[in-house]
Amino acid sequence: MVEEHVEDLLAFIDASPSPYHAVATMVERLEAAGYTRLDEADRWELAPGDRVFVVRDGGSIVALRVGAVPPSQGGFRLVGAHTDSPALKVRPQPDDQRSGYRMVGCEVYGGPLLHTWFDRDLTLAGRVALRTDEGVSLERVHLSGAPLRIPSLAIHLHREIRDEGFKPNPQQHVVPTWSQIDGTDRGLSDLLADALDADPDAIAGFDLVTADTQPAARGGGDGEWLLAPRIDNLASCHAGLVALLRAEASPATAVLVANDHEEVGSGTAEGARGSFLADVLERVAAATDAEPQASRRALARSLLISADTAHAVHPNYADKHEGRHRPRLGGGPVIKHNANQAYASDAGGTAWFASCATEAGAMVQHFVTRGDLPCGSTIGPLTATRLGLQTVDVGHPMLSMHSIREQAHSADLAAMIDTLAVHLARDAALPVHR
Ligand SMILES: [Zn+2]
Repeated sequence: MVEEHVEDLLAFIDASPSPYHAVATMVERLEAAGYTRLDEADRWELAPGDRVFVVRDGGSIVALRVGAVPPSQGGFRLVGAHTDSPALKVRPQPDDQRSGYRMVGCEVYGGPLLHTWFDRDLTLAGRVALRTDEGVSLERVHLSGAPLRIPSLAIHLHREIRDEGFKPNPQQHVVPTWSQIDGTDRGLSDLLADALDADPDAIAGFDLVTADTQPAARGGGDGEWLLAPRIDNLASCHAGLVALLRAEASPATAVLVANDHEEVGSGTAEGARGSFLADVLERVAAATDAEPQASRRALARSLLISADTAHAVHPNYADKHEGRHRPRLGGGPVIKHNANQAYASDAGGTAWFASCATEAGAMVQHFVTRGDLPCGSTIGPLTATRLGLQTVDVGHPMLSMHSIREQAHSADLAAMIDTLAVHLARDAALPVHR
């Protein structure tokens, strides 16, 4: 079973170089499993057992299976993840020339480990806005080959990095080259137009990020590791999707939400601070129970597992972890805690996730950041705040977070799928105060 999951995840990651591709990959699998698309502009009619999905602005998706009873009675069992990953984002007027090279101007998106983007075989992926006779059409694009590269500077010209470390300037040094000037005046629009078989003049805009071209792979002495780009957080999107497709029918309504823009703070219409999930849940509750308080009653019976990645202990930097909280690769899914609520986990949510894991035959680990280090965050506290939803933050342990190529353990990914599948079908009472 582990083998099957890992091969499936490798293909999922390779097919998903941008949030738009990640959502399209999920849509393809949902449709193959009988899920149908709802449009936010339409009136929704839903009945118990219906399987549907909603996409907002191409990069965020909510997929759900209505329970055997309306959510006002059975509640929502939710899994949350994010579709975006740190990268370089192409500027609106990207064409630049330096010293005989064509360059593609980019901004840094999120918090990539910038040094890992040097000397990699890169391409571009995302979407292009094309003017057509019917209006603007947004087309996904993923350039073939490896047209881009950010070469590093030879050590002989840069000896100070031995003492001072490598500190690339994001404006000057992190600019991909894409070809050498050959007397023509081709720009990025020509490259995109070729890929889309369109007229360069029809291109009215784009949202494009750089992507590594090396396929996701197995590694490690026993082939136990997954080595791939965007494990944060496509592995959780994949786990939530597989769990949703596998979860047994139950009174609860099973929901997967995968938001764009987590890496830049989630403050967008389709991000976790926006109204997307709240809008969908409210409409699903109302479409299945006309009673005016149906939506709030449904949320009071609901629980969200916010699934992102967790820091496994690094053998060469073990002191960066709190001494009693050092998750290891292969040790099972991690529950993430923070006294200042950078993670939403509390006693009740912890107990819920741990009991789902036990039922799935999985071990859990716990993570708390060191008291003298700042803590990352996730969509968990944002969604909990927006919706008043009981939430627990978890993740599979990994190394190299935000590197162009990350590392996780196949057993943890399989254990996460099994645990989420138990949660999505769970009819047990939520943790209550006595
Ligand atoms: Zn993440």
